[in-house]
Amino acid sequence: TTTLAARVQAVKPSATLAITARAKALRAAGKDVIGLGAGEPDFDTPEHIKDAAIAAINAGFTKYTAVDGTPELKQAVIDKFKRENGFDYAAEQILVSCGGKQSFFNLAQALLNPGDEVIIPAPYWVSYPDMVLLASAIPVLIHAGADQAFKITPNQLEAAITAKTRLIVINSPSNPTGMAYTRDELAALGAVLREHPNVIIATDDMYEHIRWSTEPFVNILHVCPDLTPRTLVLNGVSKAYSMTGWRIGYAAGPTDIIKAMTKIQSQSTSNPTSISQVAALAALQGPQDCIGVMLAAFKARHDVVVERLNQIPGINCLPTDGTFYVFPSVHGMIEQLPGINNDVELAEHLIENAGVALVPGTEFGLSGHIRISIATSQSNLDQALERIARMVG
Ligand code: PLP
Repeated sequence: TTTLAARVQAVKPSATLAITARAKALRAAGKDVIGLGAGEPDFDTPEHIKDAAIAAINAGFTKYTAVDGTPELKQAVIDKFKRENGFDYAAEQILVSCGGKQSFFNLAQALLNPGDEVIIPAPYWVSYPDMVLLASAIPVLIHAGADQAFKITPNQLEAAITAKTRLIVINSPSNPTGMAYTRDELAALGAVLREHPNVIIATDDMYEHIRWSTEPFVNILHVCPDLTPRTLVLNGVSKAYSMTGWRIGYAAGPTDIIKAMTKIQSQSTSNPTSISQVAALAALQGPQDCIGVMLAAFKARHDVVVERLNQIPGINCLPTDGTFYVFPSVHGMIEQLPGINNDVELAEHLIENAGVALVPGTEFGLSGHIRISIATSQSNLDQALERIARMVG
């Protein structure tokens, strides 16, 4: 067999994508499997966005663009930050990439040296630790359980920072927990970071628009604007506009880091797809009511799912602040099921015997939990919950 690069052995394929693929394969083989693994909205991309892309194709906008995105899309991103967040960025502070995933990948490649430490609050989005490892750097996890609403404390942060800490990522609202940091919590974390000027901050705002609160969205820069010179804001159109397949994300931050990230991108993918950039432009500049439609559906499902989960013996589910995930504790359920010792075995048991596919919490860095995606129809959710409930009699 071929000897592959050590870096390949250091990482694993995305667990969430794997579960979704497994559910699909089982379904194709005729098995009745309800997929609760999806990391994407179950809505179609809004019509006006698709129309813009079709028009772009017909107009021949099908060639390379500037690596960092078209001037029009970059301006739309600048306008978005101004309009929605009150942030001021110049064009050289913006990089458009092939999804939010590439934004973080570019950042890791541009910033990290071997041995550098990256603080990742756990539970975490599955890709952060592996992308850090691909950059030969070291993920340093801070564990935040249900007792602290899956959010790290300033004391934990202080204790995790060393002379080697180069980066911290804050993802709020969070995949997989659905929790968002409050203004005060962000201010307290910012107060710690203020004392450690070598630490770069990445705020992953991918779920900015999928929140239940009517309070305006906040990230760390809203409460600690003095951290702007060392903070990257990562966002994208994937989740807000149901555009996961189009692959458009964007980053804003200090010019030197953005430039370095652009250089990495120029030698890997070049520009994001020209057609998708036109679609993203339409998303950012067009009517925003499509977001509200999806949000209302997610909120309604969330309320039902959290209530029903808590009625199942052995499951404990905190209500979330947003996203389309809930992250219940299943410790009690594991105890009731003979032969099942942990969340990984439980997820396996559920897919094999109950026809419910979901991702075990261990994949996100917190065992004893499962992640349920509510990005599927209410009737699918009803059936899946029924099946899970039946497992524990
Ligand atoms: N950040 C978080 C927290 C996510 O959950 C995701 C997608 O699952 C992404 C970033 C990347 O999204 P995409 O690459 O599809 O734009």
